[in-house]
Amino acid sequence: MNNKTILITGGAGFIGSNFIPYFLKNYNTVKVINLDKLTYAGELSNLKEISTHENYVFVEGDICDRNLIEQLFETHDFDAIIHFAAESHVDNSIEKPDEFIKTNIFGTFNLLDVAKNHWMESSNKFKPGCESKRFHHISTDEVYGTLGETGLFTEETSYAPNSPYSASKASSDFIVRSYFHTYGMNVVTTNCSNNYGPKQHNEKLIPTIIRKAINGEQIPIYGDGKNIRDWLYVLDHCKGIDLVFQNGISGETYNIGGRNERDNLYIANKICELLDEIKPGQQSYKKQITFVKDRPGHDFRYAIDASKIESELGWKADENFETGIKKTINWYLDKYKN
Ligand code: NAD
Repeated sequence: MNNKTILITGGAGFIGSNFIPYFLKNYNTVKVINLDKLTYAGELSNLKEISTHENYVFVEGDICDRNLIEQLFETHDFDAIIHFAAESHVDNSIEKPDEFIKTNIFGTFNLLDVAKNHWMESSNKFKPGCESKRFHHISTDEVYGTLGETGLFTEETSYAPNSPYSASKASSDFIVRSYFHTYGMNVVTTNCSNNYGPKQHNEKLIPTIIRKAINGEQIPIYGDGKNIRDWLYVLDHCKGIDLVFQNGISGETYNIGGRNERDNLYIANKICELLDEIKPGQQSYKKQITFVKDRPGHDFRYAIDASKIESELGWKADENFETGIKKTINWYLDKYKN
């Protein structure tokens, strides 16, 4: 890892802004260039702890802008790309899929293609010194579609994306795969389950539950609240990315998930219970939970079999939902206190 220069895309978003400080803290000779368009989901204040770090540079720009990516490659001679940038909110993809197609599919292609031209002489032949240059694609378990009551997603599960968001991520995964098979590029992909933790955008489920609860508003839960996700604390995801980035086998994909399946109603009740202890009101926050019309095409259940990353790379989640959610609530109470 010594003296590597890494292009991180989407570093001002939720996971990227947890990953960059973690990465700079662990590897003190790594240089990070964070390229982010600062869409509504990008928040530079999430990076204030490292904004003046000597090994950190922020560049505002779009991954779809080919000239900009070319220029960045000329200036920095990147050793790797860790690609987080995406449109990531399923509800927005239902309302307005256009940006998802552009950023998630075309943007990923653009980065890959520029990287290929800079790192590869021809198919399966690296330019001298570029042999270990790697493209790490950050993806989601939503590409696998939905599960019934039983079963788990493994790396062998067929893709069956159901929303414009997951379809755009699935497409990007395939483009990454093709650059390995066609050009022999050094790529890895991680498909992770739902993350939660500090710095997540207000629009997402857990920040919404906390914010609405303490503001005395109704806490909206889709349908009957029985949809299940496999929740992973964001720093456990960051640790998994780090392991795969460093030790994952080129061309392989790795599922990351915390074996913490919880349904949405459980999540809302648990957060309300904890808030009742930490910040008691006149009545339990649970009274504010309200069921609202379900999201169209709402996948019933996602759950990850993380055996591959656990056994091959020695990863394991440090937090379970009950420990991670306490830290998360405290972070948001601090954020929302004004
Ligand atoms: P996010 O929406 O919080 O952040 C996305 C970031 O990308 C933002 O800072 C945004 O400004 C930036 N961005 C968007 N379009 C861009 C463009 N065209 N050019 C440059 N920057 C752009 O997303 P997140 O939750 O941090 O997710 C990061 C990655 O992880 C995504 O690829 C997502 O698919 C994947 N993922 C997320 C989760 C989750 O639970 N959040 C789970 C699995 C995988």
